[in-house]
Amino acid sequence: MINIGCHLSVTKGYEAMGKTMCDFGGNTFAFFTRNPRGGKSKEILPEDAAALNALMEKERFGKLVAHGSYTMNLCASNETTRENGWDMLQNDIRRMELFPGNYYNFHPGAHTGQGAEKGIELIADALNSVMFPEMQTIVLLETMAGKGSEVGGTFEELRAIIDRVALKDKLGVCFDTCHTWDAGYDLVDDLDGVLRHFDEVIGLDRLYAVHFNDSKNPRASHKDRHEKLGQGYIGTDAMKRIALHPALQNKPFILETPNDDAGYIREIGIIKEWFI
Ligand code: FE
Ligand code: FE
Ligand code: ZN
Repeated sequence: MINIGCHLSVTKGYEAMGKTMCDFGGNTFAFFTRNPRGGKSKEILPEDAAALNALMEKERFGKLVAHGSYTMNLCASNETTRENGWDMLQNDIRRMELFPGNYYNFHPGAHTGQGAEKGIELIADALNSVMFPEMQTIVLLETMAGKGSEVGGTFEELRAIIDRVALKDKLGVCFDTCHTWDAGYDLVDDLDGVLRHFDEVIGLDRLYAVHFNDSKNPRASHKDRHEKLGQGYIGTDAMKRIALHPALQNKPFILETPNDDAGYIREIGIIKEWFI
């Protein structure tokens, strides 16, 4: 069983994204909670959120995987940037309550020269300052490619963040296949080993969602450039083994591949066929 979908644009509203995903043949999707580069957010109309929630229930959608802004850096050395990031996080987490029970994923951050240790501390502090016991969203740290000063390029760094967060039952990880490959994990020749390592360090029970992307670059390139399904260095066979892996069943798989609508419809179709 798979919950499959892709990243959608929020411009026509929330119920509209649900309808689009039905047309695409999928049953989950991702969206930016605000402008991914500028960081501005549009107010969510409660009736639009309720309409999407009803549609998802009716069409048996998997969990949504919302994505925080790329400009949100919880561990920036620049204080203004960092404070803006903390504000965005707080605001996003509050707004996600309009979609109870879904996931909010974000890039942990880039320590911009302060060192991973300091980065980890600041990211955890941010989460501790905005997460609250009654919240219904699961917050997900994304596995990163380890580009520049990115935090989260190793499972150990993600674990170190989780260790410092108080509300651990509301915190998990989103496994991005392009990023983990680019970080150096061998998804092609040692998928079982990678997932075993993930289990030992973080715990597979904390793996809530998958970003399902091929990579334009060889393993350990630390680049983070996504490729269409099967057209990159991971390749169709390995992508199929990932989708069918017993440890990853029933989780939302989100395509962030460089595609137009027709390309996403095609990829969703291919993946669904693997499960027939
Ligand atoms: Fe991401
Ligand atoms: Fe991703
Ligand atoms: Zn990426």
